[in-house]
Amino acid sequence: MYDLLDEAAARARRYLEGLGQRPVAPAGAALAGLRALDEPLPEQPSDPAQTLALLDAAVSPATMAMAGPRFFGFVIGGALPVTLAANWLAAAWDQNAALYEVTPGVSHLEEVALRWLLELLELPPGSGAGFVTGATVANFTALAAARHAVLARAGWNVEAHGLFGAPPIAVIAGEEAHPTLLKSLGMLGLGRARLLRAAVDGQGRMRADALPTFEPPAIVCLQAGNVNTGAFDPFAALIAAAHARGAWVHVDGAFGLWARASATLRALTAGMEQADSWATDAHKWLNVPYDSGIAFCRDAHALRAAMAITAEYLPTESQHRNPCDFTPELSRRARGVEVWAALRSLGRAGLAELIERNCRQARRLAAGLRAAGFEILNEVVLNQVLVAFGDAERTRRVIASLQEDGTCWCGATVWQGRTAMRISICSWATTAADIERSLAAMLRAAA
Ligand SMILES: *Cc1c(COP(=O)(O)O)cnc(C)c1O
Repeated sequence: MYDLLDEAAARARRYLEGLGQRPVAPAGAALAGLRALDEPLPEQPSDPAQTLALLDAAVSPATMAMAGPRFFGFVIGGALPVTLAANWLAAAWDQNAALYEVTPGVSHLEEVALRWLLELLELPPGSGAGFVTGATVANFTALAAARHAVLARAGWNVEAHGLFGAPPIAVIAGEEAHPTLLKSLGMLGLGRARLLRAAVDGQGRMRADALPTFEPPAIVCLQAGNVNTGAFDPFAALIAAAHARGAWVHVDGAFGLWARASATLRALTAGMEQADSWATDAHKWLNVPYDSGIAFCRDAHALRAAMAITAEYLPTESQHRNPCDFTPELSRRARGVEVWAALRSLGRAGLAELIERNCRQARRLAAGLRAAGFEILNEVVLNQVLVAFGDAERTRRVIASLQEDGTCWCGATVWQGRTAMRISICSWATTAADIERSLAAMLRAAA
């Protein structure tokens, strides 16, 4: 019965080993092959091995090679083999990681992973945290704690009474805040459009002198790692100013928070540890499988107040940390397993090396493109490169031709009015040879 698992492992291995040789984007024939899935709903059972075979035959070729070494389209990374293997084992356990008493193994493991993360990222020990699906939900979770805390200080219990009649909260974010941060604010009833936007500089950093005037209750949202430029807000000055005015400070560090794991890059995040909450993605630079984000909160009680539930049938009173007290979900998979596996096998040095290598690769690509006469639009401080191959139309033509070529995959963006190709390097699998091969393909596409 379980032979199917060996079969899946063999197919997965063939898929991964083939990724370096195939075009990064799926070929037209592969997309046409998806029609094999358009069957009527089966009325009768069939051999499960055949279902697995169809899945592999129809869908594997139609995937984008995001797990491979030359997908540079989004800031997302691949999955380290140890994290994929840990994910499989954890899927076999099928633990509902909500309550410590019921699932002690994975709950304990998540506590270890959290302790390691706080130490590695130099965030306040004792912070509360939740393993969630991604940075969107990590922002949502941390901002729910912020909403709780700033309204509690104003004498209002938002969990009990909602926002109707509550003192209005001033929310401040930079012009370059990620769109999912705005979505999170909308989901919290804080509005996507009513916030005060602060001006940014040419790299997308919130200007230290641009914090608008506001009164508490207030939440200031800062950013570590702009999705286009990789730039960081000037935390020390902004956090001090925001705290002086009584605000809660939240940092969206979906990929940029990981810069703290490197001694050479940590300076970019200086002062960030003074904030009140932080969101990051493990499925980005930690290179674990989807979906995996983490919300951290200095005041663990605020996070718990925003997220905890109680019910007669659930053993929620525990001397242990119940994971569901810190996340929007009750039932959830144990996302901390892959985080633990990545940290345990890479160690501090291995993760720093991975992150520094990707940044070096970004600088190498930028230098090669610049040497060929193309304009780099950003300061390459991290793993992001924005390149213009001429005017908007020409840049878009080059991107289309590069995607067609299939050696690597990059997309388009518009940065402060200029159309550019956006290159994000954050995979463990990317080698120096992949960078040279990709650079050559870019130059071919631009010729
Ligand atoms: C990727 C990203 C997000 C959204 O993360 P998801 O994991 O896709 O939800 C939010 N903010 C920033 C800065 C990002 O780079």
